[in-house]
Amino acid sequence: MAAKPKLLIVEDEAAIRSGLVDVFVYHGYDVDTAATGDDGLRKSLSGKFDLILLDVMLPGVDGFEICERIRARDRQQPIIMLTAKSGDDDIIQGLTLGADDYVAKPFSVAQLVLRVQAVLRRAGIGEALEREIHLANGVVVDSANLSAGETAFTRREMDLLQYLAQHADRAVAREELLARVWGYANHLEIETRTVDIHIAKLRRKIERDPSDPQAIVTVRGAGYRLMVAAP
Ligand code: CA
Repeated sequence: MAAKPKLLIVEDEAAIRSGLVDVFVYHGYDVDTAATGDDGLRKSLSGKFDLILLDVMLPGVDGFEICERIRARDRQQPIIMLTAKSGDDDIIQGLTLGADDYVAKPFSVAQLVLRVQAVLRRAGIGEALEREIHLANGVVVDSANLSAGETAFTRREMDLLQYLAQHADRAVAREELLARVWGYANHLEIETRTVDIHIAKLRRKIERDPSDPQAIVTVRGAGYRLMVAAP
């Protein structure tokens, strides 16, 4: 069973915030909130959320700056801006800063839920994960049983493998893996090495010849790419 999508709602108006919490909890989301710009910024940069709903006008740091700060660190983080007015300038600024979509207030809750679902779908989040991962080298990984034949994986190794499998169309940067698989927001040298160590462990388990990897390939300057079997 896939985990509940994790949603962060950054909104200073208490009535709107609690209304949104009710709606998204009802729709099966795991919801956290922030009522100020500073708290919103801190939580946004934690890398723990599948999607961030971001109000523009906030006390302290505003939504545009939060969006910009998230993007400087994570190009993939799904963000939907809640713009106070349907003014084109607000919308254009939000999208220029890297928001995936925007919803103008006053919004219809049903419409907002659909937008959230669409952005998550584009990001490859919230879909049922395939139980089996078929690698290009012929190895088949059973993600539910954390195994491939006699070989067992840790939960973390499987999370890493599943994330790579969901994004098998491209190389994934170490920083993105740290943020999305580990939930680490700060990219210290020691932390990116954590990724390399786990990749090395995975290679010993899934590669025919770990010294010549064919399933998890290193793409110079870009990260790691999982090579899956053609469907
Ligand atoms: Ca506001």
